[in-house]
Amino acid sequence: SPTPSPGGSPDALEVLHRVFGYSSFRGEQQEIIDHVVAGGDALVLMPTGGGKSLCYQIPALVRPGTGVVVSPLIALMQDQVDALNALGVRAGFLNSTQDPYERQTVEQAFLAGELDLLYLAPERLRTEGAQRLLDRGTVSVFAIDEAHCVSQWGHDFRPDYLALSLLHERWPKVPRIALTATATEATHGEIATRLGLEEARHFVASFDRPNIQYRIVGKNSPTRQLLDLIRTEHAGDAGVVYCLSRSSVEKTAAFLAEHGVDAIPYHAGMDAATRAANQARFLREDGVVVVATIAFGMGIDKPDVRFVAHLDLPKSVEGYYQETGRAGRDGEPATAWLAYGLQDVVQQRKMIDGSEGDEQHRRGLAAHLDAMLALCETVECRRVRLLAYFGQKSGPCGNCDTCLAPAESWDGTVAAQKLLSTVWRLARERRQKFGAGQIIDILQGKKTAKVIQFDHDTLSVFGIGADLGTAEWRGVVRQLLALGLLAVEGDYGTLVLTEASGEVLGGRREVPMRKEAAKVAAPRKESG
Ligand code: ADP
Ligand code: ZN
Repeated sequence: SPTPSPGGSPDALEVLHRVFGYSSFRGEQQEIIDHVVAGGDALVLMPTGGGKSLCYQIPALVRPGTGVVVSPLIALMQDQVDALNALGVRAGFLNSTQDPYERQTVEQAFLAGELDLLYLAPERLRTEGAQRLLDRGTVSVFAIDEAHCVSQWGHDFRPDYLALSLLHERWPKVPRIALTATATEATHGEIATRLGLEEARHFVASFDRPNIQYRIVGKNSPTRQLLDLIRTEHAGDAGVVYCLSRSSVEKTAAFLAEHGVDAIPYHAGMDAATRAANQARFLREDGVVVVATIAFGMGIDKPDVRFVAHLDLPKSVEGYYQETGRAGRDGEPATAWLAYGLQDVVQQRKMIDGSEGDEQHRRGLAAHLDAMLALCETVECRRVRLLAYFGQKSGPCGNCDTCLAPAESWDGTVAAQKLLSTVWRLARERRQKFGAGQIIDILQGKKTAKVIQFDHDTLSVFGIGADLGTAEWRGVVRQLLALGLLAVEGDYGTLVLTEASGEVLGGRREVPMRKEAAKVAAPRKESG
């Protein structure tokens, strides 16, 4: 490869034209590439589809030697290498799927200086053999893709990433570029610390995806609601539907298919051949809807996905952003739709309580969930909230549900007091704990069999909440859980008070609440 000329890299632009066939750089690509070509370290935060790959591929082509790309996405390496080879770039990979002969061929090409790019799984790079191999060749740049995998609080933590600080210790002269599409300011700092990139220049692209319309609706009969959405706004469109469990993936796909939607399931429990066939159909054919667990999609590059729907609450804002980010990569209008209900909060809190790992780990998970809940319950612009989470300030967007149909809020203080005092009385007077269903029956004064059985119609709070409907009361419970003013306990989702509940019961804290979802009537394109 030619050596970079001083004062910028004209070579980079030349490579962009000649090898990749693009006319100009996007966003900060040029600055990033110049910085790395000149030997600087970089930490790049750019949303999915922003064009991260060129940021290390071009320096690898411009600087002498081979660019080494660390990536956890072993399944995609073959595709990435094939795509580069098709452009005339000399690329190879080393991972556990190869036989010794294939590995040896790639290693020899590297040592002979015949590779522009070498993809490596992090667990390989840790081995002494791989390190000695790199010592014997010339490395032009280290690219650490999916750098958020080094964060222990993130949803994609890979222990092997922690070892990547060795890159700088062993090869201090080789520039490093770490890239990720998911990072809050906190994880951002964590990536820099753990990878030894404190001195690196940070490049933070805008995370806004203006063509995506964000909507979060109350969940009552989720598959019906989803079918409505598809029929009224996305008939014949390609889409991704995310569910938490394999069984709900299967059920939802079957339900949609029964109702005339071209829907297919995708989850890790299916055999590999069916999974690959379904993925291929989604990528190649028009208007296919994939119903999947979050296992689906890392690295999926289909530009014309018109909607991403979540039937279950994502565990974090990062996850939500990344999953919804698969919609509308072509820049055309797309919908990010999430159905969210009380059961989601109960279930996820339970999962956190039952999760492995220490207390600190559980607190991390809970903080992620709280941020996600706050996004669901906000009466402000969703986009403002979302971007603020990534440390970016913005104004109301005009293209989310709260902007299109401003959410009404109401003073839920009295309702909260009634509900919390019912939980308190049951615990205090009867030494009992119940789930939301029974508490709401008591508040509404319903003489159900279970209310009679437990003699709950004689409680002083019986019927004090008859002014609100069941949906409203479930909304109250959900929001109190989201605010940490109420907690769930045990396997049956029983409700208990928290320390903060006292502030509400004692009248020292007001509780503004979001009114139960007024439906967003029609998408913008049809209303004008
Ligand atoms: P990311 O890794 O950030 O998700 P990619 O590197 O896969 O994004 O790029 C997303 C898409 O944008 C790819 O199809 C890529 O070829 C295209 N792309 C990237 N940079 C440019 C550019 N400067 N001009 C035109 N297309 C680009
Ligand atoms: Zn908005």
